[in-house]
Amino acid sequence: MTAELLNGRELSDKLKEEMKQEVAALKEQQHIHPHLTVILVGDDPASKSYVRGKEKACDYTGISSDLIELPISVSEQKLLQIIEEQNNNNDVHGILVQLPLPDHIDEQKVIHAISPLKDVDGFHPVNIGKLVNGEETFLPCTPFGILTMLESKDIDIEGKHAVIIGRSNIVGKPMGLLLLERNATVTYCHSRTKNLREIASEADILVVAMGRQNAVDGSYVKEGAAVIDVGINRMENGKLTGDVDFESAKEKAAYITPVPRGVGPMTITMLLKNTIKAAKGLAEK
Ligand code: NDP
Repeated sequence: MTAELLNGRELSDKLKEEMKQEVAALKEQQHIHPHLTVILVGDDPASKSYVRGKEKACDYTGISSDLIELPISVSEQKLLQIIEEQNNNNDVHGILVQLPLPDHIDEQKVIHAISPLKDVDGFHPVNIGKLVNGEETFLPCTPFGILTMLESKDIDIEGKHAVIIGRSNIVGKPMGLLLLERNATVTYCHSRTKNLREIASEADILVVAMGRQNAVDGSYVKEGAAVIDVGINRMENGKLTGDVDFESAKEKAAYITPVPRGVGPMTITMLLKNTIKAAKGLAEK
């Protein structure tokens, strides 16, 4: 078997076209102008490149955005004050603080400070709590993007065994919750998991979010599985690669995401979706 490619780039292009129309209609018919504020602390090249990608995608769909760049030495108090100003600014619908933050700033404190109504990353505990409850909320962008990819191909989730490798707050944990909500049987794996290969090879849906280059090869993949590679690892030659050894995994999987052009573009696209949702939600208030 050679797997069908889950092309995140193509799907996100299609979704961005739809959002472009939606944003134009919101502006024209309801005078809602969705706006995202991105806050970047320091000058980490990877963070800067993610932020540029987000700005470009906003531009394309007609969502306005502004970038607040702060020096790496900025105090936690100053950052919290800036977030508060954005919370109180009625023209701002989404607030995103690019992670990671420098060590002297408490990441959780910063996430807590963002208004849950403007939390387009879906990381605020109120929104995570709603996700756990199965309530309507902002879904964290990466898992939301993965779910959208699975749904775009009508891949069965109900009753299927989903194995998630990785338990981070931004990818692994919410991914499992979303699939559980759709009636998958979910197994979480992490660095202390014993028999990782054995467990992974029972998965109908295998989501790999470890941050370990090519850690999962075809021997971890069940025949006919959907394999989602979240990993983004930069190789010595500067190219990006995932956590999954694509060549061997694609021989067993029915569906597989490439890296790049897989999960990455979908993550940004879901940020746009959440920003539009926030703008509509705030306009109703
Ligand atoms: P974290 O480092 O926060 O989490 C990694 C997880 O992998 C941890 O739960 C860790 O276990 C687990 N893990 C690490 N090594 C092993 C191992 N040998 N066996 C089993 N489990 C292991 O990473 P993130 O979740 O933030 O990101 C994961 C990857 O996805 C990274 O490459 C990141 O760049 C990428 N990413 C991509 C996005 C996209 O849009 N495509 C968005 C976000 C992230 P433990 O908890 O025990 O330490």
